[in-house]
Amino acid sequence: MIKVGIPRALLYYQYYPMWKTFFERLGAEVVVSLPTNKTILNLGVSRAVADTCLPIKIFLGHVISLIDKCDYIFAPAVISLGRKTYNCSKIIGLPNIVRALIPECPTILDPEINLEKSRYHLYQNIYELGRYFTSSPLKIQGAAKDAWESNLAYRSKMSREGITCVEAINGVDQTKRQLDFDSVSSAPLTIAVIGHPYVLYDDYLNHRLIFRLQSMGIKVLVPEMVPEESLDAAARRLVGIPHWSFETDIIGAGEYYLETKVDGIIDLSVFGCGPDSMMVDFVKHRAKELRTPFLHLSLDEHASEGGLITRLEAFLDMINLREKICV
Ligand code: SF4
Repeated sequence: MIKVGIPRALLYYQYYPMWKTFFERLGAEVVVSLPTNKTILNLGVSRAVADTCLPIKIFLGHVISLIDKCDYIFAPAVISLGRKTYNCSKIIGLPNIVRALIPECPTILDPEINLEKSRYHLYQNIYELGRYFTSSPLKIQGAAKDAWESNLAYRSKMSREGITCVEAINGVDQTKRQLDFDSVSSAPLTIAVIGHPYVLYDDYLNHRLIFRLQSMGIKVLVPEMVPEESLDAAARRLVGIPHWSFETDIIGAGEYYLETKVDGIIDLSVFGCGPDSMMVDFVKHRAKELRTPFLHLSLDEHASEGGLITRLEAFLDMINLREKICV
């Protein structure tokens, strides 16, 4: 059976169920790299130029870790997913980055996804991708239809059940979650964590931030718990027409959760990300206006776990103190 390697990084968190369905419907076996660890990070760092952002370094490490395990590596060039909104140049040029830095990589499946172009262009790219596995256009069409339905079901599951991408992919133990909340004597704090999915859900990159908060009995809200239309509307209220693909996850989620009066917002960014540095300022100013505590954490491969915990604890102490004074 043909094996397709999917790196557990970047757009994996948003689209894995859709990609998996597509390849499996065409008879392929999907192989996902292990969760990020020190070896994977070091492999990526060894190939990338120093000022590359951490998520790209991690992606490269995942690709290298898959080299002997699959026949193809899936690394799409996702240019635009909405009208006049674009991904950053590194995501757009991902297949070329992989080719240039990992010459020993197996054949890369690199469909171009650009919703700014015609529907025909999209279908053509999907068809060309499907041709690696079958010559039947009908089979490719059926796989694409099922894949899209998986994607819709995945998005709706997260917003309906209030769960994260990782919980939707791996399954969530709701009983344990309830026990964690029940073990907290006072009303739990509600904290919204905003940022790119590949930063929020990569436990190695962010030192298990979401898990840490949840185990303190804090109710954690993330962008995927809100329907996309609501995030989009919130982003438009704050900054007008979006231009970056991730504006809904950062500006939209920030504004949405600020309006719902959460106890605090944590923005998880990565050092050296141009789009992040522009987007986060909008949310930071808005949080200041609404007097909502806001913590900006910028991560890179040198960020220490201890430093992150100290800043997190100081932030939570400040919120708890504020709640006591206001009671
Ligand atoms: S949006 Fe930022 S973090 Fe994501 S790939 Fe581009 S530069 Fe890196």
